[in-house]
Amino acid sequence: MVRCAHCGKSLDEKEALRHKKKDGGEEIICRDCFKEITGIDYQTFAYRRENAKQTIFAVVFCLAATVYAFVEKGALWGVLGLVLTVLVYLFASKAR
Ligand SMILES: [Zn+2]
Repeated sequence: MVRCAHCGKSLDEKEALRHKKKDGGEEIICRDCFKEITGIDYQTFAYRRENAKQTIFAVVFCLAATVYAFVEKGALWGVLGLVLTVLVYLFASKAR
């Protein structure tokens, strides 16, 4: 069991959320306090984080393909890959 740094409620390890404070430190808080502090509820936050992860994955994949195309097929394909990467990134961040 851990304790919420804000309301003092004791909660399960798996319920506990880590919150980065402005001074760089971390504190353990519950979901209610998370909503209070950040202004968004945890479901939304988790959804956005998952989305961001997928975006990063897609961009990294495109970059790898770009490097491969650049090395194997030449600079023109590398540039095309780069354009594609940017498009994927823009599309992914727009979809959020
Ligand atoms: Zn709390």
